[in-house]
Amino acid sequence: MSFYHPSMYDASRPVGSWWEDDAPLLPVGVDAGPAADASCDVAIIGGGYTGLSCALHLARDHKVDVRVLESGPLGWGASGRNGGFCTFPPSHTSFEGLIKNFGLEEARRFIDSQRDAVALVRSLAESEGIDLQPQGDSTMIVAHAPNRWAGLQSEAKAMERLGVPHELHRAGAFAERFYDSAEQFGGLQVKVGFGLQPLRFARGLAAAAARHGARLHGHSKVLGWTRQDGHHLLATSGGTIRARRVVVATNGFLEDKLLPSLANQVMPVISNIIVTRPLTDSELRSQRWQTEIPCSNTRELLFYYRLLPDKRFLFGARGDTTGKPEDAAVMRAGMERRLGEVFPGWKDVETTHYWRGFVCMTRSSFPTIGQTEEDPTVWYGLGYHGNGVSAAPWTGRTLARLIAGAQTLASVPVQLTTKPAAIPFPQLKRWYLKLALAYYRFADL
Ligand SMILES: Cc1cc2nc3c(=O)[nH]c(=O)nc-3n(C[C@H](O)[C@H](O)[C@H](O)COP(=O)(O)OP(=O)(O)OC[C@H]3O[C@@H](n4cnc5c(N)ncnc54)[C@H](O)[C@@H]3O)c2cc1C
Repeated sequence: MSFYHPSMYDASRPVGSWWEDDAPLLPVGVDAGPAADASCDVAIIGGGYTGLSCALHLARDHKVDVRVLESGPLGWGASGRNGGFCTFPPSHTSFEGLIKNFGLEEARRFIDSQRDAVALVRSLAESEGIDLQPQGDSTMIVAHAPNRWAGLQSEAKAMERLGVPHELHRAGAFAERFYDSAEQFGGLQVKVGFGLQPLRFARGLAAAAARHGARLHGHSKVLGWTRQDGHHLLATSGGTIRARRVVVATNGFLEDKLLPSLANQVMPVISNIIVTRPLTDSELRSQRWQTEIPCSNTRELLFYYRLLPDKRFLFGARGDTTGKPEDAAVMRAGMERRLGEVFPGWKDVETTHYWRGFVCMTRSSFPTIGQTEEDPTVWYGLGYHGNGVSAAPWTGRTLARLIAGAQTLASVPVQLTTKPAAIPFPQLKRWYLKLALAYYRFADL
């Protein structure tokens, strides 16, 4: 049984995102169509950033015979529908907490790897000719209440120690340079990330992987998985793929039956996005909005928002523990109300798009990369804590190098290779989620 309402897993359903309206279609031939009976060296389950980047790097850099099996159209999952914040790190642990928990050296190794992940996105765009529609030259963390300013100052100090370029802006100066709002009490500019069009990135990665020889099969959900003569047999409705090695790159879509041992380590959480019609210049002036930098705030249940190239405003929030269509309608209405409260000048601006998807959490608060204990020919990389735009392609490349023997697990930062503890009493997962949401709502007051 799936954790959320079945409609959340229905890959025949369009996502309904603004990105789908804006992105060019995949070039003909990139998607080889539903998988028929075939063999390959590496089969990847999941056609998002992790799977596509793994396929691209295996095919291009290591000349490996690789196929990707994806339930929906390529990039149908979180990769084609996220907020497009190319930021870091993929963890809920603060910069300060990283140093405290791991020491400066290990914290820095992790942070450097994830700065490399942001650089990888830029370099893939350049080397593979992907039009990402980049915006801004940093990302912003905004204090949503006066008592959050001190936390930003501590984070800035930790960033200093970790060599992360940044700048603090007090509320007045912030309003002069970026925007003003009912929930703006100063901001911390992290001079590493940027904004991008996520579906263009996913489709660009797919086109590049296919160009370098990977075979990509959209509409090819893996329905069954057996072993025979040292090979994996992945059954889809169109045929069975026989492979020597398998990569699980399903992130928040991982269903228990596919790989129960891994499913017990992750928790999918729903993230929601609304997008407005293009804002007029006078509407933008009403909030003094003058930045393309993607912003998120200090709420535990964070709001994230950015102005898109055609002046639409994207506003995102986590929430809803069921995934039912009727609860989606409640979520949308609640987000429209909150958008108007945070930015009173835009309270009557209509939204044109609403969609949602899964971010994937682990108990360790870090992504997990490795091989399963039961079978070392099964690899996985997932759990990006809502920051996978850079971390997932980087993980895909790391998996490719590990599989090709060009890198060892010991060289991957320890935060990513320490297996997260299994979630105790997994049948209580929904209650844990409800409790966590209630706690975070209280903490955000
Ligand atoms: C609304 C939203 C906003 C987000 N905003 C941001 C952001 O601004 N910045 C950021 O860094 N991150 C963001 N994220 C997170 C980010 O999108 C993800 O971390 C990242 O895309 C993960 O990539 P992935 O390839 O691992 O997973 P996905 O892109 O989810 O791909 C997994 C794929 O596996 C497929 N699959 C699952 N089971 C099977 C099966 N049995 N057979 C075949 N295929 C299968 C699914 O269909 C899916 O397409 C956001 C996520 C959401 C949902």
